[in-house]
Amino acid sequence: MFGIAEVTKLFEGCIRGALIVFVLTIGIVALAGYAAGIKSSKGGNSMVKVSSDGPVLTKKVVCSKCAYELEYTGEDVKDVQGFIMGESDTSYYIVCPRKSCKKHVTVKAWW
Ligand SMILES: [Zn+2]
Repeated sequence: MFGIAEVTKLFEGCIRGALIVFVLTIGIVALAGYAAGIKSSKGGNSMVKVSSDGPVLTKKVVCSKCAYELEYTGEDVKDVQGFIMGESDTSYYIVCPRKSCKKHVTVKAWW
């Protein structure tokens, strides 16, 4: 039979053991979280996937010369630097694809 002293010692030993395991677990979790943080800040595990063959968002504008309706994407928008009242200004346009037109149709910035 164990005496009270032995039981108390055993109990203390268990507590100490549990505490060490607990601290180790916290340490490993913290380290793993830190490592994951470094990984994600590098953008190495981005889950973004391209799921279309090209841009799918389109806008429509009516050509100011031939009056045909044109549908375009952000990739069609060209920008041109200009000056208005002495200040630099960017304007945006698309080129009308109709052979007889080719008008630079002014559009708003895509973004
Ligand atoms: Zn046109």
